Amino acid sequence: MSAPSIVILTGAGISAESGLGTFRDEGGLWAQHRIEDVATPEAFARNPQLVVDFYNARRTQAHAATPNAAHVAIARLQANHAGPVTLVTQNVDDLHEKGGSQDVIHMHGALTSALCATCDNRWPAPLTMAVGAACPRCNAPAARPDIVWFGEIPYHMERIERALSAADIFVAIGTSGNVYPAAGFVQMARHVGARTIEMNLDPGENAGLFDETRPGKASDTVPVWVETVLAG
Ligand code: NAD
Ligand code: ZN
Repeated sequence: MSAPSIVILTGAGISAESGLGTFRDEGGLWAQHRIEDVATPEAFARNPQLVVDFYNARRTQAHAATPNAAHVAIARLQANHAGPVTLVTQNVDDLHEKGGSQDVIHMHGALTSALCATCDNRWPAPLTMAVGAACPRCNAPAARPDIVWFGEIPYHMERIERALSAADIFVAIGTSGNVYPAAGFVQMARHVGARTIEMNLDPGENAGLFDETRPGKASDTVPVWVETVLAG
C-alpha cells in the first residue's frame, strides 16, 4: 500500500503550551474582550483602534513565543512522511513556521500579514500596525490585519477541500470544534473513508465524529502519534 495521505487541522490548543492563550483560557487576551468587539468587520468599522490594538498585542505575544514539541513533530512528519501531509491551521500565529513547517495553510489569516481593504494587496505587517496606514500598492489609508474575522470567508477553502477529498487520515489537534467550516472537516474526511483522530485536552464539540481520541497535551500526544506514523 502506498503511504497514506494525511490532513492535519490545528487550533488554538496546539499553541497553548507556547504561552498563547486559547479562546477559552481564563485571563487570556480573548477572555478580556468580547469577540464581537474585536474579531468582526463591524467591530473594525466601529472602533478600528481597539481592533488594531488587540491584534498588535497578539502579534507582539506571538512574535516572542517559541514553538513546542507538537509544532516540531508536525514539521518532522511533513519532512519525512512518504505521502502528502497537508497542514491546515486555524491559528493566526506563526509557530508552525517557526517549528520548521514549510507549507502551512492559514485558513483564518496570519498576524504577520497586513491586507489592504481597498485593493486586497498583502504585505508583511509591522509588529505594531497603525490605524489607517497606507497601502504600499494603491496608497489608500486602508491597512487592516490580514485576519479572517467572524462573518468573513476563510481562505484557501478549495485547496483544503481537495486535500480532504483525498485524505486517508484526518487529525484534529487542539481545536474545540465550534467554529465552522473547520469544525465540519471531520465529516468531509469521514465521507471519503478517512480514519479520523482527535487530539485534545478536553473533547471538542464534535468529538463523537472521530474514530479515535487521544486525550492529553499536544506536546505529549502529537510527537507520539508522529513517531507511530513514521514507523509505518
Ligand atoms: P478554542 O480555544 O475554541 O479551543 C481550544 C481547544 O484546545 C480546546 O478543545 C482545548 O481542550 C484544547 N487544548 C487546550 N490546551 C491544549 C493543549 N495543551 N494540548 C492540546 N489541546 C489543548 O480554539 P479553536 O478551536 O482553535 O477555535 C478558536 C478560534 O480562535 C480559531 O478560529 C482561531 O483562529 C482563533 N484563535 C487563534 C489563536 C492562535 O492563533 N494561537 C489563539 C486563540 C484563538
Ligand atoms: Zn491597496
